[in-house]
Amino acid sequence: MKFGGTSVGNAERMQHVAEIVAGHAQQAEVLVVVSAMGGVTDILIRAANEASKGDREHWKNARQELARRHREVADQLLPATEQATVLPRLAERMSDFENLCSGFSLVREITPRAMDTLSSLGEVMSATLMASILRSQGVAAEAVDATELIVTDDHYGNATLLLEETTAKTRQQLASLRQRGVIPVITGFRAATQDGYCTTLGRGGSDYSATIIAAAVNADEVWIWTDVDGVMTADPRLVPQARIIPEVSYREAIELSFFGAKVLHPKSIMPVMKKQIPVWIKNSFNPAGMGTRIVVAPVKAAPGVKAITSVSKASLITVNGKDALGLTQLVAKVFGTLSLEEIPTLMVTQSSADNVLCFAVHDADLPRVKARLEKAFELELLHEYMAALEVMPHLAIVVAVGENMKGTPGIAGRAFGAVGRQGINIIAIAQGSSELSISFAVQAPEVKEAVKAIHEEFHL
Ligand code: ASP
Ligand code: MG
Repeated sequence: MKFGGTSVGNAERMQHVAEIVAGHAQQAEVLVVVSAMGGVTDILIRAANEASKGDREHWKNARQELARRHREVADQLLPATEQATVLPRLAERMSDFENLCSGFSLVREITPRAMDTLSSLGEVMSATLMASILRSQGVAAEAVDATELIVTDDHYGNATLLLEETTAKTRQQLASLRQRGVIPVITGFRAATQDGYCTTLGRGGSDYSATIIAAAVNADEVWIWTDVDGVMTADPRLVPQARIIPEVSYREAIELSFFGAKVLHPKSIMPVMKKQIPVWIKNSFNPAGMGTRIVVAPVKAAPGVKAITSVSKASLITVNGKDALGLTQLVAKVFGTLSLEEIPTLMVTQSSADNVLCFAVHDADLPRVKARLEKAFELELLHEYMAALEVMPHLAIVVAVGENMKGTPGIAGRAFGAVGRQGINIIAIAQGSSELSISFAVQAPEVKEAVKAIHEEFHL
């Protein structure tokens, strides 16, 4: 069971988590993974950044805020005996925080390695608290630092899993606790290199921690406890009639997560997909709700679109090689550059005869994309071997997802027909051969109508 930041956001929420865990632990063996308390990771990262700019006040305030929030939980939920063990541990983490920030403010920089140690302190504190809350309610539990379990490469900030090492280490490290019937409460987000340096799995990475550990111990199921009732047919802020989907496939879940549906961290399906371990998305604010189950082959639904997701702050970039630069050359250089910068693209299209490549990125990445591409194509632009980069801002990418679209004629026709009838112009279109999703770009203000139109067309 993994509990996200809002699910462990304050004393009341943590108490609730303890009840959920305690209840289920009577029927099955439960392993717990926790995120930092909601907002804590942001506070930590911001404090580090301010410190590295030489601000020596900001992190002192941040420290007080962090200490207050964690202390409050201890005050409200822990008896004196537990407080006596937990408070010194939290104080230690707070001094780690202070020392790191103080270091950053002296050298006026942050190394990625030091940032990971700092940004994942929230998980250490929430796991410490959660284990202690469980113990004080008579449930045997112990906090476990995932740096002792999950092994990654040294790509700090967004590390890559080393599967075999992780499986061996996780099994070995957890064996004794599990034999004694003690629930491990594991820090999400954190991992370590083979040399033992702390890494992180990327923002929102606690889901990934949970599925990694589940795969390592061959869990029967993974339960991701979050603050929504499950995977929805569309964003309810865009489509009030949106409803929970009882089952989606692993591939649909990956697709939906990549395009920003609040499902789970996109990488987190990988470890469990191979072993076919089902994943539940459940709402810790409504534990009785049925949730969504992610499995290999969901019960057959009618062919067509199953869910619609969208990214509402996107831009299209057009790169035109004129007669001088072949398309493959353009593609190689453009994506080589984006990949070095780790900038994700949302959709890609090429036009037929011209050497024109068109792709969409998040608005937030746009300045970086422009600067890097203009640098990469400096000479070509100077000698006019290619046209200036064209940017179309203020767009939205709408993505219709459904494994059952494959091989069914007329799905795209119906989707685009429905959008067209609303008078919405489609600016670019992409569908891969897996037929798992159809993506298209529209003007940002039209995203709501476009999503609604498809939602209605497929009776979702
Ligand atoms: N606390 C981390 C973050 O905010 C990881 C997580 O919540 O999954 O990104
Ligand atoms: Mg989270």
